[in-house]
Amino acid sequence: MTRNYPYSVDVAIVGSGPTGAAYARILSELSPEATIATFEVGPQLTATPGMHVKNISDLAERAVAQRRSEGPAASGQISTGGPVDTMDGYADAAPRLVRPGTFLLPDGYRQEGEDGLPAAAMSSNVGGMGAHWTGACPRPGGQERVAFLDDLDELLDEAERLLSVDAHAFDDAPFSAEVRKRLADAVDDGRAEDRRVASMPLAVVRHDDGSLTWSGSDAVFGDSTRANPNFELFDESLVARVLTDAGTGAARGVRVRDLQTGEEHEVAARFVVVAGDSLRTPQLLWASNVRPRALGRYLNDQPQTVYAVRLRDVEPDEVADDIPEAAEITKQSGVNWVPFTDDEPFHGQVMQLDASPVPLAGDEPGRGTIVGLGWFCAKDLQESDRVEFDDDAVDPYGMPKMRIHYTLSEADHRSLEASRASILRAAAALGEPLDDSAPLTFPPGASLHYQGSVRMGAVDDGTSVCGPTSEVWAAPGLFVAGNGVIPTSIACNPTLLAVALAVGGARDIASRLTARSGEERN
Ligand SMILES: Cc1cc2nc3c(=O)[nH]c(=O)nc-3n(C[C@H](O)[C@H](O)[C@H](O)COP(=O)(O)OP(=O)(O)OC[C@H]3O[C@@H](n4cnc5c(N)ncnc54)[C@H](O)[C@@H]3O)c2cc1C
Repeated sequence: MTRNYPYSVDVAIVGSGPTGAAYARILSELSPEATIATFEVGPQLTATPGMHVKNISDLAERAVAQRRSEGPAASGQISTGGPVDTMDGYADAAPRLVRPGTFLLPDGYRQEGEDGLPAAAMSSNVGGMGAHWTGACPRPGGQERVAFLDDLDELLDEAERLLSVDAHAFDDAPFSAEVRKRLADAVDDGRAEDRRVASMPLAVVRHDDGSLTWSGSDAVFGDSTRANPNFELFDESLVARVLTDAGTGAARGVRVRDLQTGEEHEVAARFVVVAGDSLRTPQLLWASNVRPRALGRYLNDQPQTVYAVRLRDVEPDEVADDIPEAAEITKQSGVNWVPFTDDEPFHGQVMQLDASPVPLAGDEPGRGTIVGLGWFCAKDLQESDRVEFDDDAVDPYGMPKMRIHYTLSEADHRSLEASRASILRAAAALGEPLDDSAPLTFPPGASLHYQGSVRMGAVDDGTSVCGPTSEVWAAPGLFVAGNGVIPTSIACNPTLLAVALAVGGARDIASRLTARSGEERN
């Protein structure tokens, strides 16, 4: 049966991950009279749209939700089997690492003689990857910051509000404070206050009984979007084209394919926001013949090194009884943060026990005594690192097929080498290695943080796709969202920054909608 897609809306949003949801939320708050439709190619997994799968307590149901998120091949192959712990396989040294709830590019991820992005992954579901993520929300620092955005700090404040970020959710986790102290003693000297070792800000609400609610897009949508009678969300709806005016290039709507029936519909829209992730946002622009020179270029992922140690000089049993029964802190317990600085350009994520990125094979440690360290590097940005699209061949969704060109430069190899030395220094401050193996480097793409493919710029000089409020150059009314918009080379987890940039874009649309209703009244 055909669904009731609208004929016309003020704002059409493509994708329901955290950045698409941020547009819906800010517009619901600032322009409640505006009509908004969000189109999501994947299925809605939970009654409340966009919930994090970790909030589904039944493990079999959680596994089904993860399988349903795993792209075009997922539909029809749903079983209750498979991993449900979203950290499973995290330390797998396999060349194509894949996490539950995500799916890999079937091909085209590496070209002859290049490194490629073999672990490049996506999620297709209401909530996007934000239904599966770890929730680490550090602020960018030093060269990671977008220098031409004067209001960046205020936008980041707002992104923290939307994502319900808590910097102290696990402060009482076993040995978390001890880990922080040892790291601080080792690295804090000479650092600015906001760049010192700290608890990792996480998108999670810890309730009084210790139970947790992880933020997915549901948190970002918030009650104001859910209660907005002018907002609608359509799942299993692929936006196949953005429609633009042939003369002005301005956005005028979207063509949507109802995956339940195969029928296509045109929905007119004054503003179109494409928030389809860093690979599929440029794909949709390409398919729509919106092809600025920088489209798909400057693609970057964060090269990643991991290591693990056993904390020295601690008594594992002394804390075991102190944890409230309902507390779920073991899952991500003691997530600590070694911030990026220009002098020490690595983002350090330090996790304990079963949150460790390194497997604990056969090991029965005391809670919190095994510490996993993950060091992310900032990529040496190259225009030639890019996702290209095919005008003739299509992917399983029928969209232009992707081909990734990606190479780690000499500078990247030096950076990885330096990250190994840096992680070993931090590890030595904490304890002893689990064995004599060297730090492990993950395959490119494993960070799941792909940036740059629709990057923002201060001016239209051919090195960017959109301006400072995310509006695509020479395509008035067309906005892009997601990690792809991030113009700087960042090592820290990108979602907070991407949501902050989305807030700026949504405010721009809201102010133009307000100006238009003012004109119509006069
Ligand atoms: C296991 C895991 C752990 C992670 N941990 C962290 C972390 O700790 N911190 C962090 O910052 N980030 C983390 N990430 C990454 C984080 O989830 C992403 O940065 C974030 O979800 C990006 O939000 P987004 O809205 O831009 O894109 P997404 O969440 O990817 O959502 C994009 C949505 O658009 C839809 N879509 C695409 N094209 C179309 C189309 N043509 N028509 C309709 N719909 C379309 C997709 O199906 C998808 O649902 C993690 C990811 C995973 C999988």
